[in-house]
Order: sequence, then C-alpha cells, then structure tokens
Amino acid sequence: MVRAIVGANWGDEGKGKLTDLLAEESDIVVRFQGGANAGHTIITDQGKFALHLLPSGVLHPDIMNVLGSGVALDINEMLEELESVKSRLGFTPKLMISDRAQVLTPYHVALDCYEEERLGKASFGSTHSGIAPFYADKYAKIGIQVCQLYHKDLLHQRLKNAISQKNVLMDALYHKAPLDADELTETLWALGQKIAPMVADTASYLHEAIKEGKQILLEGQLGTLRDPDHGIFPYTTSSSPLAGYAPVGAGIPPYAVQEVICVTKAYSSCVGAGPFVTELFGDEAEELRRRGGDAGEYGAKTGRPRRVGWFDCVATRYGCMTQGATACALTNLDVLSYLDKIAICTGYRIDGQVVTHFPVTPLLDKAEPVYEFLPGWKTDIRGIRRYEDLPAACRAYVERLEQEAQVSFKYLSNGPRRDEMIAR
Ligand code: GDP
Repeated sequence: MVRAIVGANWGDEGKGKLTDLLAEESDIVVRFQGGANAGHTIITDQGKFALHLLPSGVLHPDIMNVLGSGVALDINEMLEELESVKSRLGFTPKLMISDRAQVLTPYHVALDCYEEERLGKASFGSTHSGIAPFYADKYAKIGIQVCQLYHKDLLHQRLKNAISQKNVLMDALYHKAPLDADELTETLWALGQKIAPMVADTASYLHEAIKEGKQILLEGQLGTLRDPDHGIFPYTTSSSPLAGYAPVGAGIPPYAVQEVICVTKAYSSCVGAGPFVTELFGDEAEELRRRGGDAGEYGAKTGRPRRVGWFDCVATRYGCMTQGATACALTNLDVLSYLDKIAICTGYRIDGQVVTHFPVTPLLDKAEPVYEFLPGWKTDIRGIRRYEDLPAACRAYVERLEQEAQVSFKYLSNGPRRDEMIAR
C-alpha cells in the first residue's frame, strides 16, 4: 500500500506531524522532491525535531528512509541533520539515497543568495537554500548526479563546464569572486565518499517493496500553491510538491499510489512573498501568529514570522483537487479556541464579481475575500480524543470546512504533540 502525504496550501500545514504518526504504520518513508528549504516540526517524547531534508521516518529505528531522485540533495545539510538525530535518539536511522538524485552544491546556495540580493525588494522570499539554481541546472542538464560523484574525471569535466557558465554570472552580474572547478571537484568527491554506503538504486528497491506489499509513505514538502505548474507562479518553488509528481520523484508506477492525504490548517499561514487573500494584519495577526503552531508561526527553516490569515476555502478546495486528495487532515484546530467568532473565506471578489474557483496570479492579485463568520467554541480542546467530545461549535466549524473543501476530514489535529490527533 502506497500513501502520499501532501500539503493543500502554502506549506507548513503540519505534514510532518501526520507523517510521523503514519510512519509508525509504515515500512518505508520517501522524500520525492525539494531540498532542505522547508522544515517539518515533529514533537515526540524526546523533544522537538526540525527535519529539513530527512524523511520523517528517521525518528523510528525500524523504518527505511529514502531520498528519491527528485530531491535536491545538499549533502552537508543532510549529514548534519543525520548526526543530530543520531546523537539525540541514540540509534542510526536507516537511510538510502537515490543514485540518480542530484547534488545541491555550494554555488547553488551562493547564486540563490546573490540573486535575491540583486532583486532587492522584488525578491521572491527564497530561503537561500539554493533550490531555484539547483533545479534550473538539473533541467538545463548541467547538474551533478549522485552516481557521477564516483567518477572523478567525469565529475571534474562536468563541474568545469557548469562553472564556466556560472563564472560569467559571478563576474558580470554579481561582481563576486570566481568559482574553482578543481577545488569543487575535491569537495564533492569527499562528500560522495561520505555518503557512499547509503547510495543505491532506490527505484528498484521501491518496486520490489511494492511487490512485497510493504507500507510506503511518500512525504511531500510545501503545498499545492507552491507548485511551479499549478501554484501561484512565480511565487512558487522549483520542484513539484504534488502527489502526481511523487511517483516520478520516488521512481514508482503512478498507479501504485492508493491514498493521497492532503494536509490543511484550520487557518492559513504563508512564508514568503506573493498574493495571500485572507491575510490578517496588525493586532489580530499578531495574536494568531503568537498562538499558532507549537511555538508561534515562525518558519521552521528560517525563523521568519509567517504571514497568517483566515481559512481560505477557495484555495483549499483547489489545493485538494489539484493534489487529488482522497482524504484530508485538518491541523492546528486547537489554535482557534480563543476566538469569539471565526471567519472563513468562501469566495473572492474580483472586479466586482464573486468567484469560487482559484484564479491565475494576475487575477489573484486583485482578489478580495468574501467572508462567512462562524461562532467560536471558546474552550480548550487539547486532550480531547474523540470527535463526539469536541464542542458543538467546533464540530460545526470542521463540518463547514469539510463541505467547502469537498473532501472528508479523516484526521483532526488538536495539539502539536504526536498523540494529539482525532481520527474520524
Ligand atoms: P509541515 O512543514 O507541513 O510539516 O509544517 P510545520 O511542521 O512547519 O508547521 C506546523 C507547525 O504546527 C509546527 O510548529 C507543528 O509543531 C505545529 N502543529 C502541527 N499540528 C498542530 C496542532 O494540531 N496544533 C498546534 N497547536 N500545533 C500544531
């Protein structure tokens, strides 16, 4: 059985927690796209873990974790994270890295930073992790595959070629010191040696695992609205966070994925630039930000304050539809317990017309929210384990969102800890 867990919105929906929970029932957890540019926060008995690149299964000693060919492999980041998990948990997580994954190099990080610096106020709010330059190189066919790290002459030749282009930019556009192919060859070669025992043909491994009926979890990063094709372009990421891409980035058949669980928050949050129709400002925003998540709404990767707003039915319905959600998980429901009334956005007013479908970016820029107000429940709901035990107003809120999203909300999360989950 293969399941995908993906985000319906801008990311940070709480996928990490759900993945961690469902990982317990899984044999294998796979990351299929993205790099160390986002973060999953998971809270276990051993404390809080912010995972950036490693699959969430690393917190369980028996689970095999796979970094598929679709990921942006920042080897230094990955090794650091692995070391930190190892030292805190006292066991070495099981990890395999696809021999076809590509390597995110120090120059991708540098170019990402220089480009954002050059753009100034017009920047996209990149996390400076090198993701956009990395995927640009992958599709321009000048990237470095993991398997190429073990052929030194080939590695040198490929780096020389890539760097001859980069150095033109370094000099003419960014006015920075040139890169050195010899030095980089040695650096990447040494990193290759460090990960060698973990490198494998992960696609074949997963095909075999599917045949054997293993439980496989595909873990998405970010959410629908960051997809380069279907998201809020250009405020998107550079790889597809869609369940539809998961078979490609993991290397398995598309029809192997049987369940797509789409995660959404009981309100909205967004890191980075771009239109955000239900955004709150001032004291209202500050209060929601402070109460959100496990320690306020601040980026797991960057520590930046997240933009927050009311639940957006238009965006979430689109997010679930585009992911092909078979079920939804609603997280952070406990966060809203302080409110007398809660707004949900049921439509966008664009040029005087109310629309309920999610529009393209130039129209989204003009969209104003149409709100419906629901009564709050004004009581702490943490600790509740059965749906029937939630206050009636809380259940009414969940059911109204469910109706709008057009997907059943199978999981409700009412606290950041592992056990704070209501299954319906
Ligand atoms: P991800 O990238 O989708 O995994 O999301 P993050 O982990 O970055 O953000 C989710 C945040 O919400 C983290 O701080 C979690 O600890 C927290 N969280 C997840 N579920 C809940 C919940 O039900 N209630 C509260 N209060 N916090 C939650």
